[in-house]
Amino acid sequence: MARISRRFSRGLSRRFAIAITVLTPLLRAQQPAPDLVLSNGKIITVDERFSIAQAVAIQGDRIVAVGTNQEMARLASANTRKIDLQGRAVIPGLIDNHMHLLRAATTWQRELRFDGVESRKQAVNMLRARVKAAAPGEWIYSIGGWTHQQFADDPKPFTREDLDQIAPNNPVSVQESYYQIFLNTRALQLFGIQANTPDPEEFVKGSILRDAHGTPTGVIRGDIPATRPVSAKLPKVAPENLEASTRALVEDMNRAGLTAVGVPGCNTDVLEIFQKWKSQGKLSIRIFCVDGAVAGTPEQVDQAIAQIPRMKLFQGDNSIDNIFFGETVYTPLHDPMFATKSNPTPEQLQLWRRMAMEIAKAGLPLHVHAELHDTIDAFLDQIEAINKEHPIKNLRWTFAHVNQINAAQLDRMKKLGMYAAVHPWAVINGGIMHDEFGDGAYDMPPLATIQNSGIEWGLGTDGTAANQYRPFTTLDFAVTGRMVGGVKVLHQTIGREDALIAHTRKNSYLVFEESNLGSIQAGKLADLVVLDRDYLSVPAEQIKNIKPAMTMVGGRIVYDAR
Ligand SMILES: [Zn+2]
Repeated sequence: MARISRRFSRGLSRRFAIAITVLTPLLRAQQPAPDLVLSNGKIITVDERFSIAQAVAIQGDRIVAVGTNQEMARLASANTRKIDLQGRAVIPGLIDNHMHLLRAATTWQRELRFDGVESRKQAVNMLRARVKAAAPGEWIYSIGGWTHQQFADDPKPFTREDLDQIAPNNPVSVQESYYQIFLNTRALQLFGIQANTPDPEEFVKGSILRDAHGTPTGVIRGDIPATRPVSAKLPKVAPENLEASTRALVEDMNRAGLTAVGVPGCNTDVLEIFQKWKSQGKLSIRIFCVDGAVAGTPEQVDQAIAQIPRMKLFQGDNSIDNIFFGETVYTPLHDPMFATKSNPTPEQLQLWRRMAMEIAKAGLPLHVHAELHDTIDAFLDQIEAINKEHPIKNLRWTFAHVNQINAAQLDRMKKLGMYAAVHPWAVINGGIMHDEFGDGAYDMPPLATIQNSGIEWGLGTDGTAANQYRPFTTLDFAVTGRMVGGVKVLHQTIGREDALIAHTRKNSYLVFEESNLGSIQAGKLADLVVLDRDYLSVPAEQIKNIKPAMTMVGGRIVYDAR
């Protein structure tokens, strides 16, 4: 156990050491000229003082200086590449502290993505184009990340008839978040869902909607378990296409301004691709995995407890690493997405505590799915008890999602040295949440309360199925309280500076990379995004429309639309 703690702290000190050795050349008179200088911009550094600069100098994968145009020009030599930003705003690379990125790679190339699609007509055209390109009988599908309420021209769900008309010969499955799925007739046939026969066994009871005559409407509705029988049947990308699918996914992330992601569940097949790209110097997004021995039964708890002391984190580096145990400890205590209340039993909590105690004893950081009010309280009771035996103070234990958290809980978390990974599901699910929680949904998540509590917290999405993945959509929501489609669903908004800090610098703590990432400062890695308009001065309701003009990861341009 002591050995694991040492390994963990060694991992951290190694990172600090890198930052310091790179800073040193700055102090020398004969420092080498930078490889690249970006000048004539509005550099929103997101440093501790939120300072604004004009220019940045980069050498290798690091930022070596930040300052005025003249200061950077003095550092440059004839060999320095120079980019004129033409007044554009630049922000640090955006970090999503929790996105199921690697899982998405297994379907990305085959999936239709409606993230940012604001017109139903456009969505229909996308479906039609996919049908036209598909072989007869081939599945056409989308797996979450959107809601019909985002369609400004016609915010209504897809009916079976709509989808039959678009795709008479192909099965279609269009999933909204984890709330409901729209199937066409061909898809219903493949699942054996028909009038006058009982629901197939694998479907959750009551999840198949039928009209007054018993005819299936094409809608499957419920929570994650209701959607699972459908998504389980959808074909994934063929193994020979997995690398291309992963490439398409990462390009979309870079296009959206993302440069680093906390990833629950790093599947080995996709991880191998990332490792290969890293060895070839082609990795264009940093991934920090959250993984661990999940238990679903008391027997599995015993097995997990045997495995936890052997778990090794922080064996990688600032481009690929394993950093947390999570996001589930004991699955019966994994809150469903659309449940309004939880009722954790003493037996379940006892099992959760045995595992969490072992995680603390092993000195491992824990990142755990915690959503509903009563679950958060119950977890805090356990953690406070664990903390007395095995202090968790420096392990950055994190509650993830926390849409229902309150001030008292934040206070307890702060006392424990815990962090909050906040994933506003209401960005796409605000309508559903208002139906389920009434006016309480106006405080979900309570962003202002979280910000004012002083806890260390960061913004993420929980994409790509539960939520959309584009960070400027999340930032827009945090600042305006408007979900996609424009309806105001949140009262607890925050200022745009705090929102940006939560999506950059604060998230660097949530991935254990605060010495390397999260701000544009000398010594940090050169991850940054040049924007097509200024995040700080654009009208708030246009934040969602901001587009990266260029994305850079470790000094390398990975996306360029200038
Ligand atoms: Zn989760």
